[in-house]
Amino acid sequence: MTHEKTGGFLPASSAEMAARGWKYVDVVLVTGDAYVDHPSFGVALIARLLEANGYRVAVLSQPSHQAPDDFRRFGEPRLFFGITAGNLDSIVANYSGNAKVRDRDDYSPGGNPYFGDKAEKKLRRRPDRATILYSNLARAAYPEAVIVLGGIEASLRRFVHYDYQQQRLRGSVLTDAKADLVIYGMGERAVLEVAARLARGQDLAGIPGTCERLTAKEMEARDIPAPVRLPSWAEIQADPPLFLAAELTVDLQARASAADTAASEPLLQYQQAAWVVQHQPAAPLDTAELDALYRLPFTRKPHPACGEVPAWRMIRDSLTIVRGCCGNCSFCAISRHQGPKVVSRSRDSVVQEALSLAGQQGFSGTISDLGGPTANLYGTGCLSPQPCKRHDCLYPKVCKFFKIDEQAMLGLLEAVAGCAGVKHLFVSSGLRMELLLKTPRLLRRLLLEHTPGAMKIAPEHTEDAVLRLMHKPGSSVLGEFLALCREIGKKEGRNFHFTPYLIASHPGCTSADMEKMAARLGVLGLAVRQFQDFTPTPGTIATAMYVTGLDRETSLAIPVARSAGERLRQRQVLEHRQPAASGKTRSASQKALPRVKRMKRQA
Ligand code: SF4
Repeated sequence: MTHEKTGGFLPASSAEMAARGWKYVDVVLVTGDAYVDHPSFGVALIARLLEANGYRVAVLSQPSHQAPDDFRRFGEPRLFFGITAGNLDSIVANYSGNAKVRDRDDYSPGGNPYFGDKAEKKLRRRPDRATILYSNLARAAYPEAVIVLGGIEASLRRFVHYDYQQQRLRGSVLTDAKADLVIYGMGERAVLEVAARLARGQDLAGIPGTCERLTAKEMEARDIPAPVRLPSWAEIQADPPLFLAAELTVDLQARASAADTAASEPLLQYQQAAWVVQHQPAAPLDTAELDALYRLPFTRKPHPACGEVPAWRMIRDSLTIVRGCCGNCSFCAISRHQGPKVVSRSRDSVVQEALSLAGQQGFSGTISDLGGPTANLYGTGCLSPQPCKRHDCLYPKVCKFFKIDEQAMLGLLEAVAGCAGVKHLFVSSGLRMELLLKTPRLLRRLLLEHTPGAMKIAPEHTEDAVLRLMHKPGSSVLGEFLALCREIGKKEGRNFHFTPYLIASHPGCTSADMEKMAARLGVLGLAVRQFQDFTPTPGTIATAMYVTGLDRETSLAIPVARSAGERLRQRQVLEHRQPAASGKTRSASQKALPRVKRMKRQA
């Protein structure tokens, strides 16, 4: 990939397009988020990448969805519309896990989820299932335009999936939206290939990292080699447990493909008289390519028309150091979306970005986070002499071939903390406790110098039966971790505090399990500060267990808290059991977005 530097925001209005002297654009990127030109926003990353490769790009942010007029703002794009719901799935952004309408959207100007003061659904800035609606409006505006879907919503809804707001399974976005292609996972390579092929007048067949919708006749003509066939929409409708089988196959395929993307087989699913064909994944960017991406000339600010955007305030002084996650927790979609292979940026690249951030007007002196999906995966890798198809590096325990480079993260902290203008450097992203147990020098440094207040840890639960279903290591890790932290604290004369993230109503979890968790947390001396109800978001194995009521490993029946009453009972165990110990107790399900880890880049 080549990158060249250009400054300023990309056009977000016809006047800004005219100011550049452009009569047309190559690509219109449509997003359900406010336009924030920061690398934590997927649209900004893709826009800058396309721009750096010579394409004219405009950003259509939070268009009106009552009529196609806004989709005509820049004229018909010469190459394609690229459509995303934004950094979050629109249903996750618009509804709590208990299907209550959210009255706040941190990715919208001022956090106001509505155009104006009236809280009406049709005035929602990000409509429900925005990918489908935007796609249909783009098609209405320009019937011949090429429409490419991407981002977290399209990626995780590319096969039959569960929609918790409608409480039903839905078909692929490709069957519902009037679109030509889905780019799944991290989209850089695929979007450049799409743009290049369209610029050359070629078709979009078989691009790695994409899904197509093909008729039986088209399938025959293509001669797609030995594909893996997922249970079809009709088969899943007739036999719902097949939904778990389908999700496990997608998951296994994603992890196996990480070893050799080129050798990966296509995945097929038949639905509504057509085949959804997932081609092999795009190879992950390597360190040099990731570095180049973060060198692009982001202004790191919201477009002036957007005003204040709360999500930007939260991440504006953070730096992404790592992409991908090999943790593969059942309730999290990061491994499926970003891939199980961890790629770290180089120290020089992160330092350059830190210096540039510190040089910006108004920088407070504090870098709020040096992280990614999981901060202490930085510098990790695989030492296996053979390609690995399992790629499940931390479960049930850390793989013997897993490479941990304590010095890499320590050196990075040292270098960034030493940058001129940086007074404080924090790591606020999630940390894997079982890895910190193996890197005591890093743990010590994080505790003493880089933790803003209480350290956030993510045991999620304390009971082994639930942890197994979460695909998390056993409960002993939490105890060992706290013991090591307290030993360090004793030596240093410090008393460390922790905020454990916890999940209620995960598939397989009962009120009795919650009671045991509350009691165990008390014994461990942990206050309950933050927890959430499990939310069955699209594209996770936990959601498939929620829908089918089956154990991911044994396929045996498990208890699932689906009713509002049972979910409330589980939540109340944490709300009521430790009120004195947790003055700031907060149910994330009621007051905040579901925690899906920090998805630093989702388009
Ligand atoms: S560390 Fe182990 S599980 Fe992970 S990719 Fe290497 S061999 Fe596979």
